[in-house]
Amino acid sequence: MSKIRMTTPLVEMDGDEMTRIIWRQIKTICLEPFVDLKTEYFDLGLKHRDETEDKVTLDAARRSRELGVAVKCATITPNAQRVEEYQLKKMWKSPNATIRAYLDGTVFRAPIMVSCIRPQVSAWQKPITIARHAYGDIYSASELLVDGPCRAELVLTAPDGSEKRQLVHDFAGPGVLMGMHNLDDSIASFARSCMTFALDSHQDLWFAAKDTISKTYDHRFKDIFAEIYAQEFAADFAAAGIAYFYTLIDDAVARIMRSEGGLIWACKNYDGDVMSDMLAAANGSLAMMTSVLVAPDGTTEYEAAHGTVTRHYYRHLKGEKTSTNPMATLFAWTGALKRRAELDGLTDLSAFADKLEKAALATIEAGIVTGDLKSLAQLDQVKVVDTEAFLQAVASRLY
Ligand code: NAP
Ligand code: MG
Repeated sequence: MSKIRMTTPLVEMDGDEMTRIIWRQIKTICLEPFVDLKTEYFDLGLKHRDETEDKVTLDAARRSRELGVAVKCATITPNAQRVEEYQLKKMWKSPNATIRAYLDGTVFRAPIMVSCIRPQVSAWQKPITIARHAYGDIYSASELLVDGPCRAELVLTAPDGSEKRQLVHDFAGPGVLMGMHNLDDSIASFARSCMTFALDSHQDLWFAAKDTISKTYDHRFKDIFAEIYAQEFAADFAAAGIAYFYTLIDDAVARIMRSEGGLIWACKNYDGDVMSDMLAAANGSLAMMTSVLVAPDGTTEYEAAHGTVTRHYYRHLKGEKTSTNPMATLFAWTGALKRRAELDGLTDLSAFADKLEKAALATIEAGIVTGDLKSLAQLDQVKVVDTEAFLQAVASRLY
């Protein structure tokens, strides 16, 4: 059998623990027999990040922007316990945070749906994608406890020393106070990422905030989205036959419950935090979610939404075969291959990635599943297999 050729490499970021093992298995069992894989390999495993003083993470991010497409394995974000476990020189930053800060992107998460695992919301027929703005608001707010009578004001000081003041509240007794911010540039790049993703994935885009109450802050989000849509995207949306609309966040929540899905829901930082957990829970499992970072310049980085599955890795180290779900990591690979195929005009590569996704879904629908899906899959017969056997069952559908 001749292998499918690639023309441009994609950036491959290897990771840690159980997902690093799964990474290798996916390549060996499901990809390399069929595709002449072209990747530029960056080892983001914690040991190598430490050896390179974390330079490898930034190198990988830079190269991702040059090549346009990356696929990333889950990685350990070190804490004090990991510093000791791996004898690290430093408590390195989260690689995801480093990559997001460099590429300036928005994270899109959507459930991987199979017919035998029904979402809790019966109206949902197609996946709902949440696009979460990942900058500012309460995540970088300044907060104060007010312990007694006082006047609270917002004060802006210009470089020339001139001041603008606005009353927040005249406190008669104890209470709490918070100041938060966002940036036009960040909101604009969030809007562009969402609109680019809507076009690429051919889905309607909803954006919701609370501008009726927050007449300046949330209204600014609404205005920037409207402006960017009108100036840069309206014509392309019309040509693609997709829609953009803004609505109030409470209206969006009510409509989402009645919708059949197949849309992108852009959320402010806090709304996205809350709603993505709601979406994951309503669909069963983090291992059945795709996650992709899309930068305003179109650079895309595909990853799994879950972590390195440490508990399974420790069992693996004891020689046990684990039944860890490889779907999210497999779909990170197929997402990246499809994007590469699209950019390079490789129809056979794109067809292969589609076929691989269908094979994986069909394997689960045939009742061959990993342990996490055992109680979720509504089937008469379910056979729980280890990760390797699951991937082999997927690959057997490709020959
Ligand atoms: P986790 O790796 O997502 O795993 C938490 C639990 O969820 C697992 O113990 C397992 O439950 C279940 N689970 C997650 N993925 C699964 C899969 N593919 N198949 C089956 N079960 C799965 O989260 P964590 O244990 O909190 O974090 C571990 C490490 O991952 C940490 O060092 C953290 O820094 C890192 N992390 C990385 C990323 C990333 O790179 N994107 C994201 C989050 C966390 P059971 O044990 O009950 O089976
Ligand atoms: Mg959360």
